[in-house]
Amino acid sequence: MSKLRFESIEQLEQYICENNLIGLDPEKSKNMQDMMTSFSAKGLHLNKWWAITPFDWKCEACGRVKKDIARLNKHGYLTCHLHEHHDHADRILKREFEFFSKAQGVIVADENSEKFIKRAAYGLAAFDKTLICSDCNKADADAKKLSRTDDDFSFSPREIGRFIIVRSNQEHIVDVSIASAIWSDGKNVFEKRLRLIRDLARIAAENLHWYQPSKQTSTQVERMAIYHIRQYGISNLSSEPEKLLYNSVVFAGDKASWRRNKIYRPKKIPSDMDIKHLIGIRGKLWFKVNEDWICPCCQRGKIDCVYFSKNKSWVFEAKNIELYGVDVDETLRITLCNDCANAALQFGREAIEGKNLYPPSIVLKLEELKAIIVANPHGAHDYRNDVADIFVLTWHARAICILESKNCIHQ
Ligand SMILES: [Zn+2]
Ligand SMILES: [Zn+2]
Ligand SMILES: [Zn+2]
Ligand SMILES: [Zn+2]
Repeated sequence: MSKLRFESIEQLEQYICENNLIGLDPEKSKNMQDMMTSFSAKGLHLNKWWAITPFDWKCEACGRVKKDIARLNKHGYLTCHLHEHHDHADRILKREFEFFSKAQGVIVADENSEKFIKRAAYGLAAFDKTLICSDCNKADADAKKLSRTDDDFSFSPREIGRFIIVRSNQEHIVDVSIASAIWSDGKNVFEKRLRLIRDLARIAAENLHWYQPSKQTSTQVERMAIYHIRQYGISNLSSEPEKLLYNSVVFAGDKASWRRNKIYRPKKIPSDMDIKHLIGIRGKLWFKVNEDWICPCCQRGKIDCVYFSKNKSWVFEAKNIELYGVDVDETLRITLCNDCANAALQFGREAIEGKNLYPPSIVLKLEELKAIIVANPHGAHDYRNDVADIFVLTWHARAICILESKNCIHQ
C-alpha cells in the first residue's frame, strides 16, 4: 500500500496531473490523458464507475481492458462508461408485492413487509450486482429483444460473455442463436424463480411474513465501534485493535488456560457422502491442496482433517501460515491443516503477551509445534503441555528479538 495521503483538493489535483493513482482512474490522470491523446479525442466522458476502478480493470463479461472499451463518439469525445448490471429480482418482487397488496382491498402490509421483500430479493437474484462495460450492457438489452426472453429476465455477466463477438473499441455483435439457447436452457429455472417471487410477494402483502427487525443489529454495533476505533487512532496501534480494549486471554494470570484441562472427546465421523457433499459445496477449499496432501505438522491426511464445525457442517481447510524461519527477518510460509494453523496462532498469542507482532505465529518453529501436538482425527489437537510450557518461554524471548530486530540466539 502506498503511504500517499492528500491534505487538500489542490494537492490531489496537482498530483494526478502528472501521476496515476493505484486502484483508481481519474479523468486527469496520466493514464487517461495518454489514452485521450492516442485516440486523438477532444475530451473525455467518464462516469463514476470508470473513475473508481483501476486503470487495468477488466470487464467480467467480454474480458476487455479499458483501452479496448473506450470509444470515440460522434462529437470526437472519448466515451468511458461502465455500468452496474443487475438481476431484476428486487424490482419484480416489489412490483408483485404492490400488486397483491392492492388486490386485497384492505392494505395489511406495513414497513416490515417491505423490508422482508428487500431481504428476500438477495436470495432470489441470479447474480450479484456486477460492473460490466457499456457495450456488454447494451448487448444484454439487444440479446433480450432478439431472443425474445421474458421482460423480467437478465443475462448474467458470464452468459453475456458467451453470446457476444468481441472487438476492440467497437460494439459487440450478438450471436442470437447462442443467446436463444441460453434463454431456452434457463427458462425452467427462471420460471421456478418467478413462482417463488410471487409466493413471497403474496406472503409479504398479506403480512404473513416472518421478519422481525431488531432495534440494533450486531453489524450496526460493529460498524459504530470501527468508526470510534478509527477516530481514536486505535486501529493504527494493532492489527487486532479491539483486542487492546479487553483482556482477550480468559482467566487473567494464566495465559495458558486456553490449553489446560482440555479433554479430547471423539467427535462425529464423516461418512462417505458427507465428504462428497463437502467437496461439492466447498471444492475450492478441498482442492487447495492435492489429494495425497498430508499436513506437514500433524501428519494427518485430508480426510482425517475434516471436522464438524460450530456451524453444523463438515469443513476441510488448509491454511497458509507464517512461522519462524531461519532468523528474525525471515519467516517460513507454509500450508498447515486448520487445527495446526490455529494452534500456531494461539500458542503465538500466548507467548507474545499482547505485543504488536503479526501474525503471532512467527515466533514458533515448525519442529517445535510438531513436538507439542497430539493429533486426533476429525477434531482439534491435544497438546503436550509440559513441553509447551518450556517452548512458550523461548517464543516469548524470540518475540522480543523480532521486535528489536536483533540477532536471535533463542534456538
Ligand atoms: Zn464488456
Ligand atoms: Zn443490467
Ligand atoms: Zn495439521
Ligand atoms: Zn531471541
